[in-house]
Amino acid sequence: MGSSLEERARAIADQFRGRFGREPEVVVRAPGRVELIGGHTDYNEGFVMPAAIDRDVLMAGAVAEGDTVRVWSVNFGEMSEILLTDIRRVEEASWSNYIRGVLDQFHRAGRVTPPMEVAVEGNIPLGSGLSSSAALEVATACLILKLTDGDMDGREMALLCQRAENEFVGVNCGIMDQFIAVLGQAGKTMFLDCRTLDHQFANLPRGTRIVVADSKKPRTLAGSEYNVRRAQCEEAVSILRKHINGIRALRDVSVEDLERHGGKLPDVVRKRARHVVHENERVLQALRALNAGDEAEFGNLLNQSHASARDLYEISCDEMNWLQEAAVSVPGCLGSRLMGGGFGGCTVSVVRDEAVDEFRAVVSERYARKAGIEPEISVLNASDGAGQVS
Ligand code: ADP
Ligand code: MG
Repeated sequence: MGSSLEERARAIADQFRGRFGREPEVVVRAPGRVELIGGHTDYNEGFVMPAAIDRDVLMAGAVAEGDTVRVWSVNFGEMSEILLTDIRRVEEASWSNYIRGVLDQFHRAGRVTPPMEVAVEGNIPLGSGLSSSAALEVATACLILKLTDGDMDGREMALLCQRAENEFVGVNCGIMDQFIAVLGQAGKTMFLDCRTLDHQFANLPRGTRIVVADSKKPRTLAGSEYNVRRAQCEEAVSILRKHINGIRALRDVSVEDLERHGGKLPDVVRKRARHVVHENERVLQALRALNAGDEAEFGNLLNQSHASARDLYEISCDEMNWLQEAAVSVPGCLGSRLMGGGFGGCTVSVVRDEAVDEFRAVVSERYARKAGIEPEISVLNASDGAGQVS
């Protein structure tokens, strides 16, 4: 926190020297991300709008002798040794499973992974929804490629890292986090079609910052409710399929389709489907608003997304609503919404530079009064995707 990328790159190189007694060959970084709009659209094969952020995982590394990869984690103060001829999941040093998963996927893809010495450090808060796990995976892939002079298409790299998390770590995540960690662009947000992986970039409103407010509320319900929402979306598709030709996912259902046939769905399922179908439409509208320079419209869409997550998808909670309401009470806040799974975690807001201090003061004070705990507020910029730092 607070130190520049250059300072952190020097610090991770120092850590490497301290542990391994020699110089690293390269230092790479991979960023975390925010989801500006597009909540729960990914598994419905729909549209999302993430941005890479200036919080990241840094890795210093060099090729070594033998058949092991030795990784020193600065955050955990732990060394983990990975035998390349027998890559297994571990219980202790479980953070290394993300790295193991990527090595395993390189092997499955028929690629070489050299023995290496690695030091890793990150300043993305762990487990608070800014996708530190994808950053760790993508940094690993980037390091392997740099140390082997290897080449890989960005899309392939993102898919490989997603498979590492799905198959090796055992987390059923979508493609967004790895995709933006690889391909993000400074100052821009990405519009991503989760079905086709077609994507394009749009400039964020000039003179604004991305502000994340962490409610500090444990997300106890998130896992089970997530599975319930996924099942409800599948139920909606299986019923609507009888009335609308050729649909495979809620992504294929238009607003008009849903108006015509929504009555055939059970009440709760209809609400879930309405959220997803309209949220997809809002992501498209958000892209158009950014391209047209219509900041007010972009902000309104974020607020509508929050209301829909609260009232139709029912994944909000008091804490998220308090943060969102406090955020939009600040005149320089363009819009604000809960981010990710829901039931706690963080909100994301887009705030004019000159209003950031006021935002911090107002949101902290109002939230603390209601929740009895201060939120953690991070002021971020949209950054580039993964690459070599030095
Ligand atoms: P999120 O991706 O939202 O931050 P996850 O639970 O998916 O939350 O991933 C967090 C996990 O990723 C951490 O518990 C840790 O195992 C691993 N991780 C992330 N960043 C680092 C890091 N800098 N060093 C070591 N492990 C990390
Ligand atoms: Mg994660």
